[in-house]
Amino acid sequence: MKRVLITGGSRGIGAACVRAFAGEGYRVFFTYKTSDNAAAALAEETGAFAIKADVSVAEDMARAANAAGGVDVIVNNAGISQIKPVQDITEDDWDRMMAVNVKGMFLTVKAFLEGMIHNKYGRIINISSMWGEEGGSCEVHYSASKAAVIGFTKALAKELGPSGITVNCISPGVIDTEMNAHLSSEDTAALTEETPLCRTGSPTEVASAALFLASDRAGFITGAVLPVNGGIVM
Ligand code: NAP
Repeated sequence: MKRVLITGGSRGIGAACVRAFAGEGYRVFFTYKTSDNAAAALAEETGAFAIKADVSVAEDMARAANAAGGVDVIVNNAGISQIKPVQDITEDDWDRMMAVNVKGMFLTVKAFLEGMIHNKYGRIINISSMWGEEGGSCEVHYSASKAAVIGFTKALAKELGPSGITVNCISPGVIDTEMNAHLSSEDTAALTEETPLCRTGSPTEVASAALFLASDRAGFITGAVLPVNGGIVM
């Protein structure tokens, strides 16, 4: 049975990944930060193992790796966003964004990589964003953090390829999760209008892409940025 670690699995895209991987017969471990009830309910529903661990804290991720043991697949999904004009972004806002979205991915890989190198097999899937590709107004720190996910992915793909480990990222467009709950209906309508497929995406559609990148069918794909965005960025 293949084993997968999904960070930020309690809600949204991460929860869809938990359901999708569990549905394909994976042994699923997922982390979360605060949503105890949602995590417990999802663990009960799917048979997945929930671990309360902040991705931005090295000790938490080391504890998560101890609890889970080795995994074949890592989905670096945990993330935060914030909308603010650049003059209003505080140093704390900036540091928190980078700590969760960038350092969290680094700490997770460090904590879980050893077994993959030993097995000469692994799949690492990082969740970036269309704003990391093209920049989002009033989301400078979020966009910079998601651009960093792409750079991290490509560098790590080169480094780990000889160890039989692929490293790819998914770049979602506008996906229906709580992260976008702040959008007004006018904002959502404007984004939908800009999207060639004329709708927002579902968390399940991102999870399907993650399942594909984790599968043997994606064995010769590494360092790629896979858009799941309805065509809003090409
Ligand atoms: P979401 O609904 O807000 O869920 C975020 C998840 O991340 C939750 O499970 C949350 O755990 C977890 N998390 C946040 N901070 C954490 C931390 N420090 N340590 C551990 N877990 C943490 O977000 P989403 O929309 O599913 O987004 C998932 C990923 O996709 C993010 O990386 C996001 O940037 C990216 N993305 C989303 C969209 C979109 O339109 N939704 C588009 C592009 C990219 P708790 O429940 O415990 O808080």
